[in-house]
Amino acid sequence: MATVIEAELIRFAQELVKLRSYTGQEKELAMFIKDKMTQLAYDQVKVDGLGNVFGVIGNGPTKILFDSHIDTVEVNDAVQWSVGAFSGAIVNGKLYGRGAVDMKSAVAASVYAGHAIKKLGLDKGKTIYISTSVMEEDYDGEPVHYLLENSGIRPDYAIICEPSNSQLALGHKGRALIKVDVQGVSAHGSAPEKGVNAVYKMNAIIKRVEALGQKFMGIQGDRGSLALTKIDSDAVSLNAIPDHCRIYLDRRLVMGEDEQGLAQEMELLLDGTDATWEIHSVAGKSWKGEDIVLHSFLPAWEIDEAHELTTACVSAFEELNGCKPRMTTWDFSTNGVATSKRGIPTIGFGPGDDKLAHSRDEHCPVSAIVRAFEFYTNLVAHF
Ligand SMILES: [Zn+2]
Repeated sequence: MATVIEAELIRFAQELVKLRSYTGQEKELAMFIKDKMTQLAYDQVKVDGLGNVFGVIGNGPTKILFDSHIDTVEVNDAVQWSVGAFSGAIVNGKLYGRGAVDMKSAVAASVYAGHAIKKLGLDKGKTIYISTSVMEEDYDGEPVHYLLENSGIRPDYAIICEPSNSQLALGHKGRALIKVDVQGVSAHGSAPEKGVNAVYKMNAIIKRVEALGQKFMGIQGDRGSLALTKIDSDAVSLNAIPDHCRIYLDRRLVMGEDEQGLAQEMELLLDGTDATWEIHSVAGKSWKGEDIVLHSFLPAWEIDEAHELTTACVSAFEELNGCKPRMTTWDFSTNGVATSKRGIPTIGFGPGDDKLAHSRDEHCPVSAIVRAFEFYTNLVAHF
């Protein structure tokens, strides 16, 4: 039976890669996964108001959520790929294509794990949720927040299936996106003395940003960071003094840094200026037409090595591989912000090298997909 399921699992992963699913445009893929879960005899298959698809196995008191997002970043360099970006081709034992790493291999592994869990009767005393969520790339955490808020799902544990090189990811840094605004006074470009140049005013603030960024770089050990990532300005014409300038700051956060602390930091940074700032909000619509807004303050999270979820993962891994997994943390943000924020113990494990995410010729070893499928299935037996 094992090899038949493995062959099906890999074919499914290939089909997932072939179906383009840019953020907000996941309808076709979502329906495909919904049908697959139904075929695989999930106890329930649901699509929520945002367009997240989730399958349910069992109805016991211990509730475990596996989450994978089904959207991908776009391909804008298709001609430079060595294999078709949506071919789902397997070359030298590796699955190629957009999403092969981030994170359709994990989608396939978790959907088939749900199937195997049911078939092997591992769902006794448990409820397993296999979530295949939308819009993660631009709205980290928000789609799973929506799912938990609206579906009545209250998991005891969450596994984020983002690529971790098939090792354990215990958490990740947080991030905040900050917008700083400065007002000037418009005037004709030939008479700058009659106006106030907003860009010149911003220049002083940029120097402070750079200095604070340097300060972060000098901190030894676990540290946050600050970077200016974008600047723009408004002027009524190219012959006018700009009356508005804004910059965007990417602030990476370590454990314990909260919104209040960030506010103090910003007040200090902008002290003595008339600049205003806010946490930037990103807004969009899901494939179902539902509005989604991300308030871009995503705190860091980390699970303890001694936590029962961690030790269950270590045991499940050891059983399959004969050795302990490496413990790492991710450099990027994930839907884990939504589960950890609610106090749900959260951990990460997924197939593929996260360094290949969003890159040309993104690929994932087929063996890693099978291993993730086995790990997810086996993990459930450890609760
Ligand atoms: Zn991802």
